[in-house]
Amino acid sequence: MKVYLNGKFVERSKAVISVFDHGLLYGDGVFEGIRSYSGLIFKLREHVDRLFESAQTVMLTIPLGREAILNVVRQSLRINRLRDAYIRLVVTRGEGDLGLDPRKCKRPTLFVIADKIQLYPQRLYDRGLELITVATQRNVPEALNPQIKSLNYLNNILAKIEAINAGFEEAIMLSPSGYVTECTGENIFVVKGRQLLTPPPYIGVLRGITRKAVMDLGKAQKLDVREEILTRHDLFNADEVFLTGTAAEIVPVVTVDGRRIGSGTPGPVTRSLQRDFRNLTRIDGVRV
Ligand code: PMP
Repeated sequence: MKVYLNGKFVERSKAVISVFDHGLLYGDGVFEGIRSYSGLIFKLREHVDRLFESAQTVMLTIPLGREAILNVVRQSLRINRLRDAYIRLVVTRGEGDLGLDPRKCKRPTLFVIADKIQLYPQRLYDRGLELITVATQRNVPEALNPQIKSLNYLNNILAKIEAINAGFEEAIMLSPSGYVTECTGENIFVVKGRQLLTPPPYIGVLRGITRKAVMDLGKAQKLDVREEILTRHDLFNADEVFLTGTAAEIVPVVTVDGRRIGSGTPGPVTRSLQRDFRNLTRIDGVRV
């Protein structure tokens, strides 16, 4: 495997960075996770735009322009002969000293890993996921805006640990007022009749790129798609619940905190959105 690191493609074993890199010392950096399907990179421009937005907010200068980044991603796939892949695009503050002053970091570190996609087990999609809400609240936008896709994922990791400790695979995180935000690496949706609802970004959720694609597919299916404040009560009484994310795509949810959702099996709206999403990935993308 060849990894792009600061301007060169190097062997995986040579793709190493300094222990003084602030991406490691402080989680000071930003990233994107991207998918390619049969040689088409899904929503590549949207991912690169989001990377630049995260970088702008944390005042990190990405050492390449947008077009150059697009090309590095495409090259990473070509050089590794990958058509169906998961791509990790990372920019860190770079090497500095032991203090957190970002001015000491003279050159950002940029790397791109393209690897075979680790698919989630099929039974997750066949049977659906069981979720629990956890005590760890989602970061509030006023302190650390979840729109910044930063290398510091401890908020999400703490929630994930709670879910795992309780015997579950994934956690629902709430806002400080107890509203539903998102899961540790996926957005959440509720289906109620012909309504397709998902929490608004201001409550503290990442504006997922899959979330947006699914909202557009829902509108095309003439669903009433809305961003709305959701409580756990809304989840418990939904017809269907599902999660969206680049890696997971669309995952049906069949129980929340021990309450069965709808019929307790993946529902028809979730299934039809999964079908439309699969078709979209076949036609919508930047060619490798
Ligand atoms: N929420 C969080 C916290 C995430 O980390 C992610 C992606 N990894 C998502 C939602 C889903 O976003 P996307 O559809 O852009 O992958």
